[in-house]
Amino acid sequence: MRAKAGIDLLYEKSSAFMQSELRIVLLSPAQATPDRLKRRKRDGATGIVLNLAKGEKEAARGATGRVKRAGLDLYYWIEVARCPELADAHPEWMASLQGHPEWRRRFPGTPEPAVGEVVKNYPWVPIRYREAFDAHLRRVEGLVQELPPAKGIFLNDLQAAPSACGCGNPLCRWVPDYGPIRTAAMLPPDAAARFVAAVQKLFPGSEIIPVWTTECEEHDMAKGAACHGVPCFTGVCWYAYTEQLMPVARASRILAALLPYRAFGRDDPRYGPPAGWVRHALATFAQMPPRRKGEAIPAERIVAVLQGWDVTSKERQAQIQRAREAGARGYVLAEMEIQQGWEPRIVKVQPTPAADATQEHPAHGK
Ligand SMILES: [Zn+2]
Ligand SMILES: [Zn+2]
Repeated sequence: MRAKAGIDLLYEKSSAFMQSELRIVLLSPAQATPDRLKRRKRDGATGIVLNLAKGEKEAARGATGRVKRAGLDLYYWIEVARCPELADAHPEWMASLQGHPEWRRRFPGTPEPAVGEVVKNYPWVPIRYREAFDAHLRRVEGLVQELPPAKGIFLNDLQAAPSACGCGNPLCRWVPDYGPIRTAAMLPPDAAARFVAAVQKLFPGSEIIPVWTTECEEHDMAKGAACHGVPCFTGVCWYAYTEQLMPVARASRILAALLPYRAFGRDDPRYGPPAGWVRHALATFAQMPPRRKGEAIPAERIVAVLQGWDVTSKERQAQIQRAREAGARGYVLAEMEIQQGWEPRIVKVQPTPAADATQEHPAHGK
């Protein structure tokens, strides 16, 4: 038994594999105290990824100094699509909850939108809209500029919003608007890759690491399950997912996978050992794209983002173990909660003149 080290990153100095494994801890600037950094370093962390948020520039600057003094690699984490700031300022840039009505079981009592209204998905503002793409790019630039250069910058949520088609599954994120009402201009499927490239141009000294979330699963289609009877898995979800991921995978050496197994409701014995979903989800990067007109992405290119909040030390260790079994490049253990919540908002809209989403996507279950 190890002594109470706060968190056990299972460091094994003897293994050659371990020498190259990325063992990174995600913290808010306030969480990055000298004491905690010292303990994480002792536990085997190779780096700290600091969350950058509006209004916390000075706190972040202070934390960067502490990370460097602790002898740890410095990374930044930026939440992109889930953005209350832009959602409040530009409700028309939010993703919507149209198409399938199954999401309503999670939010009973949401009124039907009247003429001139649409149900938007608060506070999700995906970069897939041209207007939001530019605004997010400026936001990312503002968050990072004037801070010391980081080894890498993680960009989270470059896909669309949860419950994309309206099924209610937080992992169905393949499209910002299932239609028919669109209130911003949609970019082509390579928007995420272009966003990563644009951020890379702004900060050429840092490796830009896109953080990707996996899609729905076959068992989600059952009534009462996450897609609640909508045939998402056999439909368009993974085709659209793969179409967006392939340009990202071609442009970025390393990707990260957002895998908070409990927050995503994947703490389930069907995946085998504790936190078995982590291993399962990492394997989909190699398995699913070839089945959906794409190419396999080996796990050695993927950093697993694991749930370090609201879990026990044993559960943290199980997740790390599963990531290793999958052959991941390493992991980010998130001690700061990565917010993924979503909720319907009725918004008055003026559809863009070009709005015509009806023929864009093949029907589910084709
Ligand atoms: Zn799906
Ligand atoms: Zn679904």
